[in-house]
Amino acid sequence: MALTALLSVSDKTGILEFAQALHGLGVKLLSTGGTAKLLADAGLPVTEVADHTGFPEMLDGRVKTLHPKIHGGLLARRDLPAHVAAIEQHGIATIDLLVVNLYPFEATVAKAGCTLEDAIENIDIGGPAMVRSAAKNWKDVAVLTDASQYAVALAELKAHGSISAKTKFAFSVAAFNRIADYDGAISDFLSAVDFDASAGQSAPVRSLFPAQSNGRFVKLQDLRYGENPHQQAAFYRDLYPAPGSLVSAKQLQGKELSYNNIADADAAWECVKSFGLPACVIVKHANPCGVAVGKDALEAYSKAFQTDPTSAFGGIIAFNRVVDLAAAEAVNKQFVEVLMAPGYTPEALAVFQATKAKQNVRVLQIDLPPGGDTDWANGRNAMDVKRVGSGLLIQTADNHELQLAELKVVTKKQPTQEELQDLLFAWKVAKYVKSNAIVFCKHGMTMGVGAGQMSRLDSARIASIKAEHAKLSLAGTAVASDAFFPFRDGLDVVIDHGATCVIQPGGSMRDQEVIDAADERGVAMVFTGVRHFRH
Ligand code: 5GP
Repeated sequence: MALTALLSVSDKTGILEFAQALHGLGVKLLSTGGTAKLLADAGLPVTEVADHTGFPEMLDGRVKTLHPKIHGGLLARRDLPAHVAAIEQHGIATIDLLVVNLYPFEATVAKAGCTLEDAIENIDIGGPAMVRSAAKNWKDVAVLTDASQYAVALAELKAHGSISAKTKFAFSVAAFNRIADYDGAISDFLSAVDFDASAGQSAPVRSLFPAQSNGRFVKLQDLRYGENPHQQAAFYRDLYPAPGSLVSAKQLQGKELSYNNIADADAAWECVKSFGLPACVIVKHANPCGVAVGKDALEAYSKAFQTDPTSAFGGIIAFNRVVDLAAAEAVNKQFVEVLMAPGYTPEALAVFQATKAKQNVRVLQIDLPPGGDTDWANGRNAMDVKRVGSGLLIQTADNHELQLAELKVVTKKQPTQEELQDLLFAWKVAKYVKSNAIVFCKHGMTMGVGAGQMSRLDSARIASIKAEHAKLSLAGTAVASDAFFPFRDGLDVVIDHGATCVIQPGGSMRDQEVIDAADERGVAMVFTGVRHFRH
């Protein structure tokens, strides 16, 4: 039985040659007004959709192919006797090949001064409807939505008289992607229209930070400015945010959150929620400058603060426990930008209401992810996205949680139980410190954090200097390095300052040199086999 193709294209590039080739293969041609005219003028036998359906194109082309004779012909499953019987009963002929490209919405709105009316008229209705019908019924219908697919389809038709399932499936996927892009462009354009500001203007006024973007993000708020005052910015959340993530925070009091507040708060929250014990994280400029666990919020805070009291000034402070009066009073002694916790006692909240100045403190309440610190699938961002130029770098989030069994002691000296605890703590913190990261820890508290240096050696030096400034002794500390030591020099620096055990991924060409250095100096070292770069 002869195949039937329906051709309905706005961009008519290559369509005549393709239709001629189809005709040459005995394919029956059906087509809409403009496309049909082009083919007929070239002498091809073509049936107009209006003649096929017995219903005229109407409403300036808004209704052309929206008819059961078209959609029945596209959607009927050839393998289901009930479907076949139904279309026979209603005199509907099957359509085997659909060739559609849509009204040029994207090109229309890209033109300077495009009016809202022009944009709206260029929203294709029947085209996407047909494409969806055909793409859903991909086993029976080949749907071509781009001229680049014509050659592939012709080659298979010529060789086998049909188009393979694999190709039809690929066409179907491409079709749904095309429709998603098309609808995305419509949603982007319309979402950005500032309705009130557009009154009386010929071209609509569009906002830089629309309420919605592609339906995949939902706007939370405009920000006063971006990373710097001359930058504009807005805050969006995922359409379906992970439970326990920053976007679900409720601001209980304080000044409006700034762009940098939000970025830092996220760093603090991601880190603090990874601990099972009561923990406190103080962040400055996206790096933890103090992290500690303790028997309660107060102890965790006091320890975290001691790491680097200078940097903690104006910090972002996150707890994974309810903040009570004692913790609030301790926090209240310093200048704090943002405070975050899963909850606060009324007495604790009252502390930040006491004076006008304190009322400026941004106090956020965020629920911890329901699965707790070990529920990686639930509480974590699934994807990590970084903008580069006009592109995106996308990766799965750094969700690796070290298991004891993965640790390999590589030195003659074994870490003691207590050292092991500190090593694991240090490792957890290092994951949230920008690379190159060197973190000294003892008794569940950071003792010196070296962050974001271009050389590991400098990070080691800086971590030691910070401990010195805080008047902390590094004797008997555990050190974590987020990636391997490329040379022994960085290791020597941390040992010179008192480290007695080290955790690092290993994997350097010079691992042996580094292990020998550790043995020579009598410290214990464990390899994780995993690194935690964070840029
Ligand atoms: P033609 O130039 O053949 O008259 O029209 C082709 C265009 O019409 C294609 O872009 C196709 O997607 C679109 N189209 C086909 N059927 C319908 C319909 O029922 N309504 C609307 N608005 N567009 C349609």
